[in-house]
Amino acid sequence: MIDFLHRTFSRLNIKIRVLVFAMAIVPIVILSVTVNVIYVNRSLKSESENLYSRSEVLAKQVVTSGYLDNQGDVTMELRLSELAQLISGRVMLVDSSLRVIYDTYSIDKGKIFLWENVTKSANGEQLYYVDRKNDILTTTIPITIINDDNESQVVGVLLASASVDYLSKNIGYLISIELILLFMFVVFAIVLGYILGTRYSKPIKEASNQLDTGIKGDKINSIDVKGYSEIEELSSQFNTYVSKMEAIDESRQEFVSNVSHELKTPLTSMKVLADSLIGMGDAPVELYQEFIGDISQEIERETGIINDLLSMVRMDKSNASLNVTSVNVNELVESILKRLRPIAEKQNVELVLESFRPITAEVDEIKLNLAISNLIENGIKYNNPGGFVHISLNSDHQYFYIRVEDSGMGIPEESLDMIFERFYRVDKSHSREIGGTGLGLAITHMSIIMHGGEIKVDSTLGEGTTFDVRIPLSHIEEEGM
Ligand code: ADP
Repeated sequence: MIDFLHRTFSRLNIKIRVLVFAMAIVPIVILSVTVNVIYVNRSLKSESENLYSRSEVLAKQVVTSGYLDNQGDVTMELRLSELAQLISGRVMLVDSSLRVIYDTYSIDKGKIFLWENVTKSANGEQLYYVDRKNDILTTTIPITIINDDNESQVVGVLLASASVDYLSKNIGYLISIELILLFMFVVFAIVLGYILGTRYSKPIKEASNQLDTGIKGDKINSIDVKGYSEIEELSSQFNTYVSKMEAIDESRQEFVSNVSHELKTPLTSMKVLADSLIGMGDAPVELYQEFIGDISQEIERETGIINDLLSMVRMDKSNASLNVTSVNVNELVESILKRLRPIAEKQNVELVLESFRPITAEVDEIKLNLAISNLIENGIKYNNPGGFVHISLNSDHQYFYIRVEDSGMGIPEESLDMIFERFYRVDKSHSREIGGTGLGLAITHMSIIMHGGEIKVDSTLGEGTTFDVRIPLSHIEEEGM
């Protein structure tokens, strides 16, 4: 039960509704109570002041008429009962020994009046008391004379009780108006709370519903919310995230279909070659050898694709980290050239290395090796017989630079933006002939980015291509890598 209440009240829309309700209701209740209290207090104050001043006039007359010592003065009694009539109440006179000497109700005459307010007034205080049950206000004032020592002396107390039942009536009237107002505010607060609560919580609820859909494996849709800047921000970020996820999902699907296609192609060729050999029955040994040679080439191609895929998966930013050591870049490039020279010679392509200075950098040797190898291999692959690949190495205090320039076929301008994409090839049939997978430059690009570096390409169709790479000499660990 407590858990249920806790869960209910911690919901945003309920919170907003309760808040709006409280903000509308609490002030009106406080205001009403304050107005009522102030009204009653002010009314009682002015009523008692009125009674005081009338009592004071009478008290003076009581002294001058000598009524305290010699009762029976009819004019004085008439005045006292006139006041009682005027205030629709009761007037009493008490002497200094607290004995009642006159009572317009004639009930307590002759009795000793032991009431706190009377004793206090007998000591000179002016007081009032409200009997809320019967709506009666009673004031007590001292009756004083100036004695022979020129001091003021209390010789009696005058009590005047007035009915204040009109106050209860007025308060009743006020409260009924306040209740009507309160009712109107309650309705207003409920409606407003409902509207605001629903509006503010809607995008959050929508986002949460969409996330639920995503968790269940269905497609997440973007949400549409306007106004209320923070919530707008939240929904726009949510939508950005959704489109990013969609893009990732799309590229993943594309990647999977590309990989499957790439892996299938050599297998299909091998199957065709093998089937035709089987179908031929007694084929000459030379044909067998030729076909087996072709099959071996396809196996090599398949191996190449798988190797590239493995390198790429290892390089994938989300699960890769750099194994950074201090590497002599000149030696690294020389060892790559040593490995590639026989291939270049076969294609009649000249490899030239130009090192401007010794370079030592903090890099991941294997990943950098892959990056540079792919660039040089491409320079050889997409070259013409008699062409060259020119590699130059340089550095400053912050970066080292590798330039791979070839005299090959070049890349059309419209393809320059795409060559770093996975599986992209400028001319598919031509590239297949040459034997690429379309992953080489994607791997190079990833490796360089992981090193905090940059790669640029410049190419003229039919003249050649130049790749410029810039990598920091010292590795800075990036957040989240
Ligand atoms: P591939 O395995 O096909 O070589 P890459 O990712 O290495 O894949 O390169 C992508 C495409 O870019 C290649 O298919 C090729 O068309 C083009 N390309 C890359 N390097 C060069 C180059 N040096 N000269 C001309 N074209 C190139």
